[in-house]
Amino acid sequence: MAFVITSPCITEKAADCVEVCPVDCIELGKNQYFIDPSLCIDCGACEAVCPVEAIHHEDELKDKDQIFLEQAKKYFGV
Ligand code: SF4
Ligand code: SF4
Repeated sequence: MAFVITSPCITEKAADCVEVCPVDCIELGKNQYFIDPSLCIDCGACEAVCPVEAIHHEDELKDKDQIFLEQAKKYFGV
């Protein structure tokens, strides 16, 4: 299980999440930041600091946001 970054990140991208992630698993992709689902330890630190509430737990993703989990997997090749 992992946290997932969704569409509000596309315009914000302040990277507060990158600074707090204890396992350094958040990277900037082409249009937004992505969380590596194979490394995320589910700590929730990133979710708490994101100013635009772009980060959600995989279990709480809306159907329309499932694409962002797929994009993260593709980005990291997992
Ligand atoms: S804190 Fe939120 S908006 Fe900023 S880079 Fe991270 S996910 Fe994107
Ligand atoms: S939940 Fe924790 S480990 Fe996973 S991406 Fe966010 S800060 Fe990093």
